[in-house]
Amino acid sequence: MRRGNSKIKLLIGAAIILFGVFKYYSNSEVNEFTGKKQHISISTEDEIAIGLQSAPEMAQQHGGLYPDQKYQQFVDMVGQKLVNNSVAKQTNYQYDFHLLKDPQTINAFALPGGQIFITYALFSKLENEDQLAGVLGHEIGHVVGRHSAERMAKQGFTEAVVNGVAVGIDPNTAQGAAALANVINMSYGRDDELESDELGVRFMIDAGYNPMELIGVMEILKADAGPNKTPERMSTHPDPENRIEKIKEAIEKYKK
Ligand SMILES: [Zn+2]
Repeated sequence: MRRGNSKIKLLIGAAIILFGVFKYYSNSEVNEFTGKKQHISISTEDEIAIGLQSAPEMAQQHGGLYPDQKYQQFVDMVGQKLVNNSVAKQTNYQYDFHLLKDPQTINAFALPGGQIFITYALFSKLENEDQLAGVLGHEIGHVVGRHSAERMAKQGFTEAVVNGVAVGIDPNTAQGAAALANVINMSYGRDDELESDELGVRFMIDAGYNPMELIGVMEILKADAGPNKTPERMSTHPDPENRIEKIKEAIEKYKK
């Protein structure tokens, strides 16, 4: 009897695992804007909700928004120009571009659904509007490429995040809060970065920006990384030299 019992438990356990694997792989769809096949288990509406919910927390982590409205509006103007002239406009996402006060951390990032951020530290290092378009284009690429949603599906905590957002992230629901924190701090993989660089080039060309300036951005990141300094988020990024090669290939591919 006992042996039979544990066998049944084992079978049930195996069935649960198989179901999880099946669920992951059956949630497969082709991203109509990038042509990439991906495993995603949340809707674009959920992505937008998660992004809007996490945005204030994200801004707070970087000392809040930059107070000068002129700079804020400039960042938003360049971001919207990229969106309005590319396939990004055909998505259901709601794009917002925020300049963060943080004068030290050279960084830019995107939350799922279209909330995009750049720190003043990075903004102040940029030499021209085209480079800003390069940074924002890359981040729009993460949104259109649905990289956060893909990571969430991979890590299997989509439901916790979605539920957490549904209840408004009660700090007592530790699971929801932890999952949301994870989304906020989530880093992308190497392939995601390269895809975003390529999409960034595409969006820049579509909006009339000089895509070569994305290489200038890479030089800035490279200088910032220095010989022994690894900025937190950049540590998961592929080597800038490698990215520059791929960016040049993308420019050849998309130039008009
Ligand atoms: Zn990136």
